[in-house]
Amino acid sequence: MGAARRFRCLESFEKIQKTKEKHMLVVMNQQATQEQIDAVVAVIESRGYTARPMPGGQRVAICVLYNQGAVDSSPLVGMSGVKEVIRVTNPYKLVSRELQPEDSIINVGGVLIGNGHLSMIAGPCAIESEDQALTIARHVKAAGADLFRGGAFKPRTSPYSFQGLGEEGLKIMARVREETGMPIVTEAMDHEVFDLVEEYADMVQIGTRNMQNFTLLRRAGRSRKPILLKRGLSATIEEWLMAAEYIMEGGNSQVVLCERGVRTFSHHSRNTLDLSAIPVVRKESHLPIIVDPSHAAGRRNQVIPLSRAAVAVGCHGLMVEVHHQPDAAMSDGAQSLYPGQFQQLCRQIDSLFEIFKPLGNMDEMVI
Ligand code: PEP
Ligand code: MN
Repeated sequence: MGAARRFRCLESFEKIQKTKEKHMLVVMNQQATQEQIDAVVAVIESRGYTARPMPGGQRVAICVLYNQGAVDSSPLVGMSGVKEVIRVTNPYKLVSRELQPEDSIINVGGVLIGNGHLSMIAGPCAIESEDQALTIARHVKAAGADLFRGGAFKPRTSPYSFQGLGEEGLKIMARVREETGMPIVTEAMDHEVFDLVEEYADMVQIGTRNMQNFTLLRRAGRSRKPILLKRGLSATIEEWLMAAEYIMEGGNSQVVLCERGVRTFSHHSRNTLDLSAIPVVRKESHLPIIVDPSHAAGRRNQVIPLSRAAVAVGCHGLMVEVHHQPDAAMSDGAQSLYPGQFQQLCRQIDSLFEIFKPLGNMDEMVI
């Protein structure tokens, strides 16, 4: 190897080492007392960093935030109650499994996502009228849906397409919740409308096109409502997890990730469902991950097969568009299942989930 090349290799090796050294976690013993945790926090903060204790099922891990360079771990290693100090290799910290080895369970208006059951989220793409929303909600509830989803504010590619009913749509969703008991999921397209959406919704969706809308992510971080964060059209898994990190860093740890397909050269579907993202995200992060096969497929006939595949690769739930009159739907009719098909899907995946559930445990998923 030439001297110049060797020098470049050395330089990039040092760069990698420096990045690794920047991220640090202090893992406490299971029996660590609150005083011991407070003492570690005090030492970290005395150096000008922020310490964020994250209670896990077994023990507390303390995350070091806002350090610009490497943190000297030596004063922390010997402190009472400290089990180990870990160098985190990824730029994301709070979302990372290194920080919290156990799966997070997110409570959406009383429905738990990530607790060993497959969560079903269903409803029309857009809320069109009370009658439409209630008709679809009754169907999906009877078939086994846990949460009702619909759009009141719709991100549409064309400014001439139906943009949603706005607040009237939110009011209709609230009536659906009242009648059916299903908590509701709906999208906030920008930080200005967030307050309004948050008032009505049990879970606020951040859509694909907004995955890196940092003002919106910061607003979501200040919310007390769980956030459903869809993957950007061309986002890498790291970018997606960093977007989730924004929300958690803001103080909201209730985040559910949603894979909805990425842009590829393929024409046989609207997007390409990246099923390989599910085991990767589950290995990297403790956050639950669900799959939206409808926006990936764009065509009704692919939705059930893709849902089955998503269950087999270990997702925690599915979000599916359903319409009782898809041909008359004001948006995304072509990918909306008929109520009978949704019922069929629920039956199929219930038994599939039972088969694949044991594989959901991380020991078997880590390759
Ligand atoms: C939606 O969920 O209604 C939607 C528009 O999806 P996406 O943001 O994934 O395109
Ligand atoms: Mn849609």
